[in-house]
Formats: sequence, structure tokens, C-alpha cells
Amino acid sequence: MELFADIILDISHSSLDKTFQYRIPKELEERLEPGNVVEVPFGAGDVLRKGYVLGISETPKVPAEKLKEIRGIVTDFAGTESRLTALALWMRDYYGSTTVQALRTVLPMRKKAAPRAKRTLARTVFGPEAQEILERFQKKHQKARARLWEALLVQPRLPYEAAVGGLGITPSVIRALEERKLLTCETDLVYRKPFEAPEKRQEKPVVLTREQKAAVEGILEEDAPGAYLIHGVTGSGKTEVYLELIARTVEKGRQAILLIPEISLTYQNVIRFYGRFGERVSVLHSRLSQGERYDQFQRARSGEIDVMIGPRSALFTPFPNLGMIIIDEEHEPSYESESVPRYHARTTALKRGELEGAKVVLGSATPSMEAYYGAMEGRYRLFRLLNRPGGGRLPGVEIVDLKEELRQGNRSVLSRLLYDKLERCLQEGKQAMLFLNRRGYAGFVSCRSCGHVIRCPHCDVSLSLHRGGRLFCHYCGYSEPAPRSCPQCGSSFIGSFRAGTQQIEKLVGEAFPGARILRMDADTTRGKAGHQEILKAFGEHQADILIGTQMIVKGHDFPLVTLVGVLAADLSLHVSDYRAAERTFQLLTQAAGRAGRGKDPGEVVIQTYDPEHYAVVCGARQDYEAFYRQEMAYRKLSGYPPAGGLLALHCSALDEEKLQKAVLYLGKFARKAAGPRGGTVLGPADEALSKLNDYYRKVLYLKHEDAKTLIRMKNLIEQYISINEGFQGIQIQFEHR
Ligand code: ADP
Ligand code: ZN
Ligand code: ZN
Repeated sequence: MELFADIILDISHSSLDKTFQYRIPKELEERLEPGNVVEVPFGAGDVLRKGYVLGISETPKVPAEKLKEIRGIVTDFAGTESRLTALALWMRDYYGSTTVQALRTVLPMRKKAAPRAKRTLARTVFGPEAQEILERFQKKHQKARARLWEALLVQPRLPYEAAVGGLGITPSVIRALEERKLLTCETDLVYRKPFEAPEKRQEKPVVLTREQKAAVEGILEEDAPGAYLIHGVTGSGKTEVYLELIARTVEKGRQAILLIPEISLTYQNVIRFYGRFGERVSVLHSRLSQGERYDQFQRARSGEIDVMIGPRSALFTPFPNLGMIIIDEEHEPSYESESVPRYHARTTALKRGELEGAKVVLGSATPSMEAYYGAMEGRYRLFRLLNRPGGGRLPGVEIVDLKEELRQGNRSVLSRLLYDKLERCLQEGKQAMLFLNRRGYAGFVSCRSCGHVIRCPHCDVSLSLHRGGRLFCHYCGYSEPAPRSCPQCGSSFIGSFRAGTQQIEKLVGEAFPGARILRMDADTTRGKAGHQEILKAFGEHQADILIGTQMIVKGHDFPLVTLVGVLAADLSLHVSDYRAAERTFQLLTQAAGRAGRGKDPGEVVIQTYDPEHYAVVCGARQDYEAFYRQEMAYRKLSGYPPAGGLLALHCSALDEEKLQKAVLYLGKFARKAAGPRGGTVLGPADEALSKLNDYYRKVLYLKHEDAKTLIRMKNLIEQYISINEGFQGIQIQFEHR
């Protein structure tokens, strides 16, 4: 019996989603599998081109003698690529994309890049003298030098990229230390030296607490794939658990991937892994070029490393024998891709785990509803870390009712309580963070007298105010005129809350003329390192107050920060998104976690018009369970995930009229496809951003209690689009919400 392969030609060139069939020569029959890269003759001149094997079958689509034969296998990675290809095909089907788009996401491009030299900084001074050098730098306030030296004390050999990337050290600082003969910069083209063991032990492994041990042993108990959730408050030692899990995975000859949000890819985090695994670890981050990424993947493939740390895309590291995938802070929105296929790293990791026979471990202080629901349903085994082995108390949290402030005649952005605390904090020479939890487009309308928020009567999310004074629902398209007075209490103090960080900076500056203020938002962090620079300056006490968006609540610990103020919890609470309460709870919990990292106890003030809202109350108390119960009740009642499936169809086009017509057709078709047995189609509605780069944008939502039905509907819609000319020029993306 002759075998045939479906082949897609080189994904880095072709945009065509077309497969070609080729004959498999006898000598390759045993070896060839999906995922292999092969060389095939193509076109009239039989030019040799590379292609991916997608599938193997016994039936030719045309008479077999007309088919050309595969010339040879280019890569052959013992099944790794084959499993990754299978993952890509699953992503294509689940998230909706072309085969090429999916393959490009999963398999890194083979760009021919000149082999880059690997540089390592090696400390040349040891013993007490090394310690003195640190003190000298500190005394002279040479902060960058001190930072680099401190790292070299922990780890005498340091990858150059780790110093420049994670530590934010400039090449001139490195040169200065090199000139003073404190370190050497080694260039290594051939092979990287194994990590020098002796001083590595300086990082003595901690003795795990009972809780930590229970998690490690529980996860490793069975030698079988499985999914696990670690719910542990910040500082409860999750990272130590990851370290141990990875070490034990590597001991068994398997490899591990640790996903962390890009924003937490700081040196402090990464050095713990370097300290434990030395050169067997590699880090991916967005500053790497495509060629460098490819190199890192190549190292993984060839068995040079065992551990890959990185954001979302590190999930596709082609390890030959992947044993574990860990997703830290699994609730982070950055785990969802914004380009097609719009995959979520959590769901995709579970699929990869299944294909590889690997364990998948999720960790968070505030697990996503999906993850916790999964644990409650028994799909993930749950472990809790409730205590902080390193000590540290939770800060005291107070909620201020802004309605009450208004009643008392205070219309400033600072409540009297926050003002007083800020004043005291500054007098004591401490630092404060003021946090404006703006997220996306927050155009909701609320009453400043009674706190009433105008919501969609059909979707139970807030309506948003658009130019022209109408309110719109971004799920179903419902609209109504904006009221002039509050429908609840009649007050005329009704409108949308639109203060930005810049305005707040000005107002706070006026209230505290002597204070040094830093601002961090999308504007001030535009440069490549802007974000790290501001945090660094604040960490070095070059400012007293840091004002910013949610960026400031993540990562970094500032021991001098004793006060955190959340200026308007409502800003994230009432965006028109069914996840608004969940995000608010997460942000409040994180914000509260920023205060009191040092010796002094912290204080947190949360300002809101809705002080009784469960997201605010539970966030202030850091009571995850209570929040989960109430939020889940809402999701069940309204059929939102994880209680049901929600699939978004994002449509965009240059021609607004054509777009409008197309989405109406799409809506009609989807309603038909949903069939009589339940399922709801919401919309079409304008997207929150209704026009972007000249493209008009509209969205349809498909809601169904059974997620599998949604996939079926998606497939029907994809077919419908592909055969219908009316959809030309219209971009359609699917997204599982
Ligand atoms: P998380 O990742 O949950 O925020 P970490 O793993 O970073 O927590 O731990 C927080 C702090 O507690 C770190 O300084 C860590 O070294 C320390 N720590 C963690 N586990 C232990 C332990 N078993 N014994 C002593 N200190 C620990
Ligand atoms: Zn009112
Ligand atoms: Zn609606």
C-alpha cells in the first residue's frame, strides 16, 4: 500500500492556505510523520522547496502517478514537531485561523541569522574584597554598579543579556567594571561553559513548609499527566514550589516551561532560576529578535537546556520530552493573544500537556474564574498556600465612600482620609502609590450622589457613553439616550468619570506642592525601557509619590511604600465587560499587596462610589472565596463563562456600510446555526473602539452553555464566510471570551 502526505509549502513565504499531496517514497515510510519538514519538487521546473507534513493518508486525491515524490526529510525531531503541529492544527480548529497562521504561531520561523556570540560576565574578585566593593558602590550611590555587583555576588557568572535585560544595566556600566578589572566579559562562540557550580550553592534551597510540600508531593504523586491549580497569596512561596517541581521534573530527564507575564520578567525573578539551574535555563522575552528566539528554541530542541522561562509564546518551546508546564499568575490578561489565532495560553497549555503527556500547573493569588471553577469541578487538583513563610502582614484596608465625600462638599479627587494619610506619609519620609485603575475604555455613566450605574437591560454589563450623548451596550448593541438626571435618585450629578493620570498628577501636585511626583502610564512608558526606568527611579526614592495605571501594581516591591491609594475603584468595576468585577477584585488585591512590603505596616485606601460592591469588599478583605461565590452566582445567572461559553466574532472593514450589512447577515446566519436548542446571539454591536486605523469594527457574540456547540457554530460560520462573496474585504476574527 502506497502512502501519501498532505504538505503545506514553506510557511514563512506562503500566505496560501493550500496543501499539496505528495507520494512518500518507501524508504521514508517508517520515519515520516506529521510535523516533519520535507523537501519537495514544486512547479514546472521542479524547484526544490520546503514544506510541512500535515497529514498522511492512503488515498490519493488524483491518480497516484500524477503526484510527485517527497525528496527527503529536512528535520526530524523524534516526534516533537509532530506534536507541535498537532497542537497548531488543534488551535486552528478551536480558535479559528488558517493552517498557516496556526503553524506560524507554534513553529518558529527559520530565519538564517549569523550565529551570535554568547557573552557572559564573569566576576574576577572574590572573598571579603568582593563584599567591600559592593559597599563602596553603595556608599557612592552608584546604583547601577551596585545592582550589577550584587547580582554577581549571588552568581559569579552572569549572561550578558540577563544583566542588560533584567537588571537594566547599560553597556557603559559593564565596561566601567571591566576596565577596573572587576569582571571580564567573555565571548563564547562555540559552546557555553557549564555553570560553575561552587558559588551556585550560595543560594541555599529553602526548606519547604508543610503547605508547599503538600503541593509538590501532590502534583508529583502520580507519574501521569494532570492539571493542577495552586492558589497562594502573594509571598506564600509559589515560586519556591515551582523551583522544586521543575528540579524534580529535570531529575527525571524531562523538561519544563514556566510562563510568566512579560511584566514580571524582572531580573529578581529570573535570577532565582539561574541560581538553581544555571546554564540549563533560558529566558525568552520580547526584546529578543526573531533570530535570537529561534536560537533559544534550537537550544531547547537539542537538549542544551531543560527549563524555558518566558511569556505566552514560550509555551511553544520544542522540548524533546516536555514534562511540565507551569503558568504563574494564570489570571493575567496578557496570556491571551491578540492576533489570530487568538489563543489563550492556559487552554492551549492544557492541550499541549495532553499531547505531550505533561503536567500543567496553574498558579495565582487571585485565580481566574475559569481556573477556580475548573478546580471546583474537579478538573484541576487544587492546592492552597495560605501562609507567608517569609513573614509579612497584610495591610490595613479602608474603603471610602465617595458619595459621602460629595455630600460633605468635597469634590476633589482625594478623599479627606486619603489626603490626611498622604500628608502623614510624606511627613514621615515614606513613599505612596496612587493608583488609577483605568482599564481600556471606561465610558460608563454613574451618579455621584447615589452611585447608580446605568446598565444594559439585556446583558447586565454597564453601558458606555459615546460622542453624541447616547449610551451603548458593547455586547448586544442596545442603546438609549444618556439621562440628564439619575433615574434612581433624581440627582443631576450624573455623568462619566474621565479623569486621567495626567490630571491627577496636576491635582495632587497642587495639593502637595513639596512632593516629588512620578507618573507612569502608557504615555510616560513609551520608550523601550521607560517602564523599568520609572520603577527604578521610584525604587531609589527619587520621588515620594508614584501615580499610575495598573502597571504600577505589578511586580516590584518597594519597601518604603507604606500607603497605597486606589483613586476610583469604579473605573474598572463598571467597564462594559462581564469580567469587570473579576478584574477589579484582582487589581484591588494586587494594589493592597503593594503596601507594607518593608518593616512598616502598610495602609490602603480604596475610594469608590460603590463601597458595598462585593468586588470592593472582598478585595479589601483579600477574601478570594467569598468573591468567587458571588461572582460565580452572577456568571451562572447571566450565562457568562465559565458557566457557559461565549464566542466573539470581531469583524472589521474599511467600508462601514458593507461591514454593517455583513454583520447583519452573519447574525442571521448565526441565529439559524444556533438552532432551536438554546444558544443566544448578541449583537451586532460596535466594539468599544468602534474605529481603529480607518477600520470600522463591530462584534457579534455567541453564547451557549455548551462550549462544544460554539465550536460547531464557529465552523459553520467559517464555511459560510468562505463561500460567500459578500465577506470579501471583511476581516473576521474569533475569540473565546
Ligand atoms: P510567591 O511566588 O508566592 O509570591 P515566593 O516564592 O517569592 O512567593 O516567596 C516569598 C518569599 O518567601 C521569598 O523571599 C522566599 O524566599 C521566601 N520563602 C518561600 N518559601 C520559603 C520557605 N519554605 N522557607 C523560608 N522562606 C521561604
Ligand atoms: Zn442617583
Ligand atoms: Zn446589552
